[in-house]
Amino acid sequence: MPIHEKSLIRPENLKTHDNLVIDGINVSGHWSTFIEPRVVTDYNESLEDEIAALPGAENIHRCWQCGSCTNSCTINAIEPRFNPRYWIYLIRVGMESELLRDKDIIWQCVSCNKCTYACPRDVMPEGVMKATAHWLELKGYTPKSPAMHFDEEFTEQVVKRGRIEDTEVLRGFFRRTGQPLLQDWLVEVGWRVAKKLPVLWGIKMALAQVFRPRTRGWRRAQAAIEEYIHEQENERREALGLIGATAANDNADVRKPEAAE
Ligand code: SF4
Ligand code: SF4
Repeated sequence: MPIHEKSLIRPENLKTHDNLVIDGINVSGHWSTFIEPRVVTDYNESLEDEIAALPGAENIHRCWQCGSCTNSCTINAIEPRFNPRYWIYLIRVGMESELLRDKDIIWQCVSCNKCTYACPRDVMPEGVMKATAHWLELKGYTPKSPAMHFDEEFTEQVVKRGRIEDTEVLRGFFRRTGQPLLQDWLVEVGWRVAKKLPVLWGIKMALAQVFRPRTRGWRRAQAAIEEYIHEQENERREALGLIGATAANDNADVRKPEAAE
């Protein structure tokens, strides 16, 4: 499928003649613009399958390149290089090296889901953006994002105890991302909340930090959920060709089922 957006052509591939006259007609400058021909040989024929194996990208094969996602995109409005339609195209045709040129901006999706509502094919482009960012991390092309650290901390606490404690999620997130616990803005927020918080709530929150309660009868559910997660992650690693890879990257950490506490 052809791409019609001139902005997508890399500047180094655009050629013009500063002084070109053909049959007496001056076609210098942009009148003589042409695109450098190129041959792509490094296709990754599994790229679509790899990304479709990750949550959110299951419907990527439905895309018919209408561009509604990019037209409605919050980030594209301020960063024209953020182009979901184009990246979906690259993924579907297997142009991995081309996709990697934009690896440092794909994570910028803010999950507003305007693209999801605009898409006539139920591709769920927001999910594709998330899956693509996750794929980049799993493959070791980008470091694990703060959002991924947060999701992992959140999930780990839910799986372990069937509930979360906001303060503990925040603490875990700071620990994972190497941030200090005492930050000015956090102290300020904590102070303001504490002033309005009913005393009983404050005591409950403090006790939860010490005793770490779990949902009643959670142990059996925990074992089943952990087994399911383990299966799913192994399937994904297999789809990404990471099974058996010798430390392909530090980010490909698959959580193993833990013994119920
Ligand atoms: S969810 Fe992401 S890709 Fe979709 S419109 Fe919002 S910022 Fe753009
Ligand atoms: S709106 Fe949907 S069908 Fe259209 S280009 Fe985007 S993902 Fe593809």
